[in-house]
Amino acid sequence: MVGSKGYVLNGTVLLLIIPIFILFLSTLTMLDYENRANCDSINSNNVMSTFKDVKDNIPIITLDVLNNTAYGVIEENMTIINSSEYVKAKVQERIDKLIYDCDVNCTIKTITSYEEDPFYIEVNSTITVQKGNVKHAENISQLVSVEGLPDPLPFTKCDSISHNLTSIEYYHSLAAYLGGANGSFYENATSPFIIRKCPYEPYEVHGSALVMIDCIQNGYYHESNDGACYLCRLEGKATCPHRGLETFIIPHGLNNGSTIASVDHVIFGDLYEGSPFIINSTTVYILFLDEAHRKKYGIK
Ligand SMILES: [Zn+2]
Ligand SMILES: [Zn+2]
Repeated sequence: MVGSKGYVLNGTVLLLIIPIFILFLSTLTMLDYENRANCDSINSNNVMSTFKDVKDNIPIITLDVLNNTAYGVIEENMTIINSSEYVKAKVQERIDKLIYDCDVNCTIKTITSYEEDPFYIEVNSTITVQKGNVKHAENISQLVSVEGLPDPLPFTKCDSISHNLTSIEYYHSLAAYLGGANGSFYENATSPFIIRKCPYEPYEVHGSALVMIDCIQNGYYHESNDGACYLCRLEGKATCPHRGLETFIIPHGLNNGSTIASVDHVIFGDLYEGSPFIINSTTVYILFLDEAHRKKYGIK
């Protein structure tokens, strides 16, 4: 009898225990679920902030690599064969050294001259960031301005030239580069050192002496279909198939006659003549310009 009572009691206890056990298990699952959700949300914030950081770093690193590369050409006579690939490899190297507590995979796919505006370089990359179950991947395209960077082109063409913060002094080297009668016009010539976009648009307003003098004195650069883009300038090319830039090279003396036109892609590449254009203001300047450039800058 006692035994059977015992069984009854055990049965009741068992009936009570089962729901308690179920309740306990479900609480555990819920806790685990909540824990994982919390973890995912922390990871997600982490992934997004890492993604943003990598993304923000790309244009900063690219600008620094462009600047270092240009100074390598200017100060150390470095020769760059394929500037796109060279700069891309350097940027990738620097990106790979960034340290995060997420798995980061950032591939710089291309670095090219921006087709819409030669004052910009376009960087295309893929960034993948992962932590735990959270993953974010994106293909991005970013623009880096070349304004403020030094112009390496003249340094690939002439020896013994110098620069200060704003302009290049050619002394005898441009005359030597051009040689003969043409060269003598460019004895002690000067040209800009830093890329700065000319604010005077449309370009025809350069027909006014005040605008032209200000443009020359500030060493501005202009968009040009003939002049080289920044990446090609790093390779020592004066002209290239991309939309590019041009600036004036300013002769020192006021010589009569005609000589190679005073535009950098003409002097360092195309080599055609221009006739004198004297800009008379408080300072007197002379430029030699061909018909096409006279038309472009509104000079009659
Ligand atoms: Zn200008
Ligand atoms: Zn180019």
